[in-house]
Amino acid sequence: MDSVRTMMAGYSRAAVDFLLPPRCAVCGTRILEHGHLCAPCWGGLKPIAAPFCIGCGMPFEYGGDMEGDGMRCGACLANPPDFDWARAAVQYDELGKRLVLTLKHGGEGAAVPVLARMMASRLHEFAGTLDLLMPVPLHPRRLFRRRFNQSQLLAAEIGRLSGVPHDAFSLVRRKATPSQGPLSRKARATNVAGAFAVTDAGKAAIAGKSIVLVDDVLTTGATAGACARILKRAGARSVGVLAFARVSQPFQ
Ligand SMILES: [Zn+2]
Ligand SMILES: [Zn+2]
Repeated sequence: MDSVRTMMAGYSRAAVDFLLPPRCAVCGTRILEHGHLCAPCWGGLKPIAAPFCIGCGMPFEYGGDMEGDGMRCGACLANPPDFDWARAAVQYDELGKRLVLTLKHGGEGAAVPVLARMMASRLHEFAGTLDLLMPVPLHPRRLFRRRFNQSQLLAAEIGRLSGVPHDAFSLVRRKATPSQGPLSRKARATNVAGAFAVTDAGKAAIAGKSIVLVDDVLTTGATAGACARILKRAGARSVGVLAFARVSQPFQ
């Protein structure tokens, strides 16, 4: 029976592959399996590996004598972020940016499993200590226009991979903020001030929990910081940030 089932699964996968051949989520090249990148795109990404700042996830350029735990960058020491830690899978360079755009504008498509897998692997060091994954919410109007929140898709998939439950309802965006693109850190912080809130039902879900905010890109940390402040005010025990890509400069 099992072998029949395996055979049927094989057939239906073959049928899907025939109708919708697997393609690289970045460049669209035909590849062998769904949910992956082609070899050149995969090889072109710059994963963020140790040594990095444990506060904001910024990669350190020189590994030499900075090995070991407990290292924070100058920006985090001078001006500690409102979140307890941040990790990102890759650097936000040209290719990282293309993947994020694919995710944002490409529908609920192929980029989600690829990105989520890379992000979930960054949670291994926190295994057993995390209670909830929470996507950075979109304003309802933007969600309506875009039809989906890419961070929510990532959080759901990372939840499936890591076994940490995800909650896309307790944290809400009540102010539509203009695009953060060209703004400085200070302008971004003003821009997102008061933008987020915890629902009444969400307060019980958040109290005493170790929460991981999930977002696609970490740029100045202003958005994640605003969310972390609100979550902590609602009683969260700790708030970390997990992003797919991070700019390689300090938050300043
Ligand atoms: Zn490719
Ligand atoms: Zn830092």
